Amino acid sequence: MPGSSSQTLDVIVIGSGIGGLVTATQLAAKGAQVLVLERYLIPGGSAGYFERNGYRFDVGASMIFGFGRRGTTNLLTRALEAVNVRLETLPDPVQIHYHLPNQLELKVHRDYKQFINELSAKFPHEREGIRRFYDECWKVFNCLNAMELLSLEEPRYLTRVFFQHPFACLGLVKYLPQNVGDIARQHIKDPELLKFIDIECYCWSVVPAEMTPMINAGMVFSDRHYGGINYPKGGVGQIAQKLVEGLEKAGGHIEYQARVTQILLENGKAVGVQLANGQTYRAKRIVSNATRWDTFENLLPAEQMPAREKKWQQRYQKSPSFLSLHLGVKSEVLSPKTECHHILLEDWAKMEEPYGTIFVSIPTLLDPSLAPEGHHIVHAFTPSWMEDWQNLSPTAYEQQKEAKANEIIHRLEKIFPGLDAGLDYQEVGTPRTHRRFLGRKDGTYGPIPQRKLLGLLGMPFNRTAISGLYCVGDSTFPGQGLNAVAFSGFACSHRIAVDLGL
Ligand SMILES: Cc1cc2nc3c(=O)[nH]c(=O)nc-3n(C[C@H](O)[C@H](O)[C@H](O)COP(=O)(O)OP(=O)(O)OC[C@H]3O[C@@H](n4cnc5c(N)ncnc54)[C@H](O)[C@@H]3O)c2cc1C
Repeated sequence: MPGSSSQTLDVIVIGSGIGGLVTATQLAAKGAQVLVLERYLIPGGSAGYFERNGYRFDVGASMIFGFGRRGTTNLLTRALEAVNVRLETLPDPVQIHYHLPNQLELKVHRDYKQFINELSAKFPHEREGIRRFYDECWKVFNCLNAMELLSLEEPRYLTRVFFQHPFACLGLVKYLPQNVGDIARQHIKDPELLKFIDIECYCWSVVPAEMTPMINAGMVFSDRHYGGINYPKGGVGQIAQKLVEGLEKAGGHIEYQARVTQILLENGKAVGVQLANGQTYRAKRIVSNATRWDTFENLLPAEQMPAREKKWQQRYQKSPSFLSLHLGVKSEVLSPKTECHHILLEDWAKMEEPYGTIFVSIPTLLDPSLAPEGHHIVHAFTPSWMEDWQNLSPTAYEQQKEAKANEIIHRLEKIFPGLDAGLDYQEVGTPRTHRRFLGRKDGTYGPIPQRKLLGLLGMPFNRTAISGLYCVGDSTFPGQGLNAVAFSGFACSHRIAVDLGL
């Protein structure tokens, strides 16, 4: 048994999402004694998977950044290499095929010029503005991609990086408090094109350009053409599986079905955790990969929430969760040139509404081994609030699932004619499913600003108001997405390593 109430470990990580696993592997590689406690049966959280009837479904993420071979922003590649494990990835030639109002059909090609030319052909009067806007995103990316990405809470690192890359650092300081909308409007005037920039942001930040930090946009809008979007062979779940393999090789441990119910405090300092089965563990440092809401309202006494957290909750709210359709379909439903990722929106006014925008991933177009021969996986999901799914009888809940799923399938028939008739398998997940299996309050996708904020300035780093307790994952800087939470993991492990003198 790795650790018991009598033994003090170096670090306990609560949760094995990608943020938690990157923290754990980085620290284990530095020689720390690390224990990861995961409430579920497998690692990965929102980057996990499940298997049914010969299909291997990704529970959430499937458009994966961070697997490039060059630069410094390829954090998933680096996280795996740090613990001597490798993962084969499959390049995706198109990030997204958009199906938008007014028959606006657009593909974001891996090749930057091809994308800019396709977009400019739709908005020829904005050719110059389009180029200037996306080029400005490259400026942000080039600054990030020039430096080693570690903890911004570590003054010696900041000084070193500043002297090594002064112009890149000054560039980032300039963009840190900025949002995409303000910059887009400096270059672009066409209202429909500005709507397109909105959905370019919304599809990963779940807020429009006005509220989306420029730093994140610089990463997303450029890395898709630089490192590209690459799908892990064997499914997204492989990333977490490989990180666990690396963790164990480096001497760390993970326990499954180990739900932490309480972070133990002594004299106001975090010193250990208690599990649902009553077992306790102690460590010099505790890391929570649960959301900030779960950490400060469930694992710690909500009535003693530190002022800093209360302030954060005034600035950020929980985004909606998703209604997810995991479909197995006959191959003939998809025409030969179908792309892996699609976004469908019929009315701009409904972009942010529940069930307004539909996201689709068809990972079997890249890795056919995830479905039985002659079949594909279609994962369709759309924002949905927990409130819609509460206080329903079991029958009413099932009926609502069925009705909503039918509506989504009906809408998807527009881009995939024959989808309904070609269905072989269907599993519907609601915000309740996300809450239950991912352990995330209200099944939320993550924090979104309550109002327009100064870019990323309000996002907290890894240290918390409680001594010895750190947070990692999507409710820390720089936010949602696998590569973003990997960044958070690198930063968290760096800060802890310095604190422990490793
Ligand atoms: C439908 C959907 C689609 C997405 N698509 C993409 C995409 O295409 N590309 C992309 O990059 N990102 C995507 N994302 C976002 C991305 O998946 C997340 O931002 C990221 O995986 C979050 O990682 P995390 O480290 O913050 O933790 P999580 O994934 O939330 O993992 C936290 C882990 O902690 C465990 N845990 C929680 N509480 C406890 C406890 N008390 N005790 C023990 N264990 C606990 C949980 O079981 C879980 O395993 C998507 C998300 C969803 C839901």
